[in-house]
Amino acid sequence: MSTLRFHAIKESLKIKPVLVEEKERRSDLFGKNVFNENAMRHYLTKDAFKGVMNAIRYGKKIDRNIADQVASSMKDWALTKGVTHYTHWFQPLTGTTAEKHDAFFETIGDGIAVEKFGGSQLVQQEPDASSFPNGGIRNTFEARGYTAWDPTSPAFIYGTTLCIPTIFVAYTGEALDYKTPLLRALNAVDNAATAVCKYFDKNVKKVSSSLGWEQEYFLIDKLMAASRPDIALTGRTMLGHSAAKGQQLDDHYFGSIPTRALNFMRELETECMLLGIPVKTRHNEVAPNQFELAPIYEEANLAVDHNSLLMDIMGRIAARHNFKVLLHEKPFAGVNGSGKHNNWSLSTDTGVNLLAPGKTPMSNLQFLAFFINTIKAVHTHEALLRAAIASASNDHRLGANEAPPAIISVFIGEQLTKVLEELEGVTKGKLSPKEKTELKLNVVGKIPDVLLDNTDRNRTSPFAFTGNKFEFRAVGSLANCGNPMTVLNTIVAKQLKDFKIEVDALIDKKDLKKDEAVFNVLREYIKSCRPILFEGNGYGAEWEKEAKKRGLSNNRNTPEALKARVSKASIALFEEMQVMSKIETEARYEIEVEAYIMHIQIESRVLGDIARNHIVPTAVKYQNILVENVRGLKEIFEEKYNSVSKEQINLIEDISSHIEGINVNVNKMIDARKAANALKDIEKKADAYCHKVKPLFDDIRYHCDKLELLVDDEIWPLTKYREMLFTR
Ligand code: ADP
Ligand code: MG
Repeated sequence: MSTLRFHAIKESLKIKPVLVEEKERRSDLFGKNVFNENAMRHYLTKDAFKGVMNAIRYGKKIDRNIADQVASSMKDWALTKGVTHYTHWFQPLTGTTAEKHDAFFETIGDGIAVEKFGGSQLVQQEPDASSFPNGGIRNTFEARGYTAWDPTSPAFIYGTTLCIPTIFVAYTGEALDYKTPLLRALNAVDNAATAVCKYFDKNVKKVSSSLGWEQEYFLIDKLMAASRPDIALTGRTMLGHSAAKGQQLDDHYFGSIPTRALNFMRELETECMLLGIPVKTRHNEVAPNQFELAPIYEEANLAVDHNSLLMDIMGRIAARHNFKVLLHEKPFAGVNGSGKHNNWSLSTDTGVNLLAPGKTPMSNLQFLAFFINTIKAVHTHEALLRAAIASASNDHRLGANEAPPAIISVFIGEQLTKVLEELEGVTKGKLSPKEKTELKLNVVGKIPDVLLDNTDRNRTSPFAFTGNKFEFRAVGSLANCGNPMTVLNTIVAKQLKDFKIEVDALIDKKDLKKDEAVFNVLREYIKSCRPILFEGNGYGAEWEKEAKKRGLSNNRNTPEALKARVSKASIALFEEMQVMSKIETEARYEIEVEAYIMHIQIESRVLGDIARNHIVPTAVKYQNILVENVRGLKEIFEEKYNSVSKEQINLIEDISSHIEGINVNVNKMIDARKAANALKDIEKKADAYCHKVKPLFDDIRYHCDKLELLVDDEIWPLTKYREMLFTR
């Protein structure tokens, strides 16, 4: 056995975890390291507090004098907690979080030093933007960028650093991060939804979007993970034969959480409590060593920050427990991959969840308006929504016969399907009093406020209504939720804006009553967005055929899917809703295409290296043992040796054919890579990586995995699936 593999297994078996006690109540820990409303009340002057709250609630600007006060109080608060540094914390388009620490410490002459933190440092910083992806903006515009304080997401302490959530934009104003367009989209949906709410309740002043993510992940022994170059460099295994037992028995799902994993979870959850991340649910997932963590939902911007922060601290805390967290969507072939369901809804400042059926006909009509407009938005922009979740790693789930499929559809359940059918039959134009009463009492009034959704049937749906929210299930486990949340909120904002215009027109021009106008517009929407509604099995080949007939797109890979980002319609949409300018949309597209190319390129190099430098030499070594064996048999048995060594000779031949299979395909892959690299056009290059380079991964893997079954376990260099997934 290779020394690394041997060492990893041995060390892992030595670990005999004991459940760690939790000393403090979680509710006592919650938000302790966050400069939240509570801390602000304590540390800020009345004026400063009011200024920040107005910024949070109504997006009002914070003036310089207030910013100085806030900074100074933040510093005082942080110093009481042993903090020495501060950083602007942001989410560039690399997919990770970024920070650059500065000490509070400053000298003021005469050998005197103080701790200082002023409004200007709180409000704005200038990190070197040239090291972050900017998709060509740099070539056309000013290279430098700056980060600017986002007061709607509270500052927090991690370790000994005060982290201030910020946006990250180019000097010329273009967004270079996930947060900026998200904030604009949330503003757009607030404006559009508030206007629609006024039909039903004049008191509504603000609508916020909520997000509850469900993070899936794998936990693998740190040394075992380190023994695999593919995991170290790509976050997933690129080869490895399935273990004899996979997830067939589902015994992990129902089983108790192993102590070692539980210790990790408890420390992670404690850290989350301190950081104000309201984590609530944890459980085993379907695959061995796969788990899920979910919080109580929050306002979308905060929820996105919290998920990014979580993904970061997960890795650090795992290391303390000798684990490596795998957030990749498909770390192991043959077992379930990981996703991150995004539960989404809209709610008013009067405390109403707009996607929950209400108790009165009027509140139900409001619910139906938001419900149907969301479906209509998804139908109109299904390709764009698909693009928002496209990545090289998520391609392993979408379009690879794993839930959910690459085709976007909406599941609403039996009861609401019936309601929509009845609404579709509403008379055009004015309604008779009898009709109106009938509608209100028997259709709208009869929507139960608790909806039974058949979870078995909606499991394969990428976008399912689950009683009081929509669940966007196609988001990848590694994704920054900012991207799908920006798109979802933008398309819903645009749809609600159009809805308002249509309803107003009917009221003004056709002299309809408000509710008649609403019914009329909704009826037409239901008719037009039928094709997106699907209650059946999302995996089946029949659905692919049917979806095609319905005109839904089925973009199975990232280069194809991303194109919808820069369609004329998408560019116009983002411009109209003031979420992204044309330049920003195009820059983002370029960054994502380039990320895809880089991703496949790295994987290709890693696989070539492992196949040639690890697998082939091992196979040759074992083959030599067999050759020696056959030679020995010949010596002993002389002419009879043929029958005695028949199987060994077959094996020697098999091994040779797999070695050949590897070498031939690795050569092909290198040639394909060279050809792809020579292409100047990035779309063509991405296509070449997708269709010419990537398919060879499967061929190379096939031969490597076959060799794993033939070659002596003692000398196999890579830690095996069964060892990574089943060592306890
Ligand atoms: P499950 O899907 O396991 O049955 P729930 O449906 O209660 O559990 O919640 C799943 C996730 O959805 C949780 O993260 C929860 O906070 C979130 N969620 C619940 N209600 C909303 C809402 N109105 N908006 C956004 N997320 C929500
Ligand atoms: Mg759920």
